[in-house]
Amino acid sequence: MIVDEVKITVEAGKGGDGCISFRREKYVPKGGPDGGNGGRGGDIVLEARNDVSTLVDFIYRPLYQAKHGEHGRGKKQHGHAIEPMIVRVPVGTLVWEDGGDLLADMNEEGMRFLAARGGRGGRGNATFVTSTQQAPRLAEKGEPGESKNLRLELRLLADVGLVGFPNAGKSTLLSRCTKARPKIADYPFTTLEPQLGVVQLPGERNFVMADVPGLIEGASLGKGLGIKFLRHLERTRVLLHLVDLTGITQFRDLQKRIQTIQAELKNHSPKFLKIPQILVFTKLDALTEVDHLKWAAKLKDRYLAVMAISAVTGKGLRELLEAAWDALKKAADAPIEQPSVAPKNLYQAKVRFTVDKRDGIFYVEGAEIKKWVAMTRFEVRDSLERFHKILGKMGVLRELKKQGAKEGDTVFLEDRELIFDGDRKGNHERLT
Ligand code: GDP
Ligand code: MG
Repeated sequence: MIVDEVKITVEAGKGGDGCISFRREKYVPKGGPDGGNGGRGGDIVLEARNDVSTLVDFIYRPLYQAKHGEHGRGKKQHGHAIEPMIVRVPVGTLVWEDGGDLLADMNEEGMRFLAARGGRGGRGNATFVTSTQQAPRLAEKGEPGESKNLRLELRLLADVGLVGFPNAGKSTLLSRCTKARPKIADYPFTTLEPQLGVVQLPGERNFVMADVPGLIEGASLGKGLGIKFLRHLERTRVLLHLVDLTGITQFRDLQKRIQTIQAELKNHSPKFLKIPQILVFTKLDALTEVDHLKWAAKLKDRYLAVMAISAVTGKGLRELLEAAWDALKKAADAPIEQPSVAPKNLYQAKVRFTVDKRDGIFYVEGAEIKKWVAMTRFEVRDSLERFHKILGKMGVLRELKKQGAKEGDTVFLEDRELIFDGDRKGNHERLT
């Protein structure tokens, strides 16, 4: 299975409802209002992690729901807010609004992105006391949490890519020097998704190594697959070209093997020719009579270096990783391919609501309208009163009138149906 793109849904928690309550006292028939506020609903936060290397887990778990905030209670007790739900994604993940804009480029370990904001808790009636309203029968319901469909795309930020024939020892090398645990077997095509691991060297130096199938493997599995993998490889800055020397006795055969891979790379993209390579002879422990040093000397001009390793005994590994690090440092100045779209500012000014008239019915829509409809207790008079004040402030009533709304007209505020009530009290338009 190739997983470099998944769709998930994130639903933040709703805020807890505010409470309507009045203090009971022995000789006071109706004490002061003491309804507490609801707690905030849980956010959903994505976090970039180096210890997560693929998006495969999201296939099995595409829905993330945070908990709702606790409701407020009497005696001014506020409901508990909910801790954010942290969803870990691999470093290198691009977060897109499904069918829309790029929201975040998770390209650094520990980076966090607020994917869905939890709703705020509704205010309890204790907070609505004013000089003119001493006993408000008014409380907000909790604000709904944000809900979004996201598309996650894994952009492998591999510094070092492994190439070579199946069985060359790529997966084994990756598992020896990183925490990645790819499937290892002595038959071809074992690696069917890109594998990533972080190589750690002394002195807080580290780089990302990727085992990316796609050459002989991908080509033989079908064109599309191969190309998809190669897209990742193109972004690496150093390639380790692994060659298994077991079974090779002639220099000619070795050359042929190397050239097959080089031709494949070149065929897929001329970009590969620009990526510096280290040639790596593998399975040193299994070699008996081959004079690999002589071969290395013959080939060394064409590569940054020619090295030999055994992933089994560990021989040569340290030297190889140090050489890869040096090569990376040299390549560091070269520009790295960036995503074509820059992340958009999420907090741009937005239209607060829209008013549409279709078949004599008015439709008022917008995120803010939706929020206030959800937070209002329409059955409670004071609540409805406040709702009207808010609509008035937002300019909804004015806009309706401007568009020709008359007494008795039906108005939908999102999914709430109300009747426009013209000039009933002086000049105050109302919806009932
Ligand atoms: P890949 O197809 O390039 O990913 O190759 P794998 O890492 O899956 O290895 C193919 C086979 O070679 C497996 O059976 C490994 O156990 C074996 N192998 C890998 N590295 C070494 C090594 O250094 N020495 C020996 N003797 N066998 C190795
Ligand atoms: Mg493999």
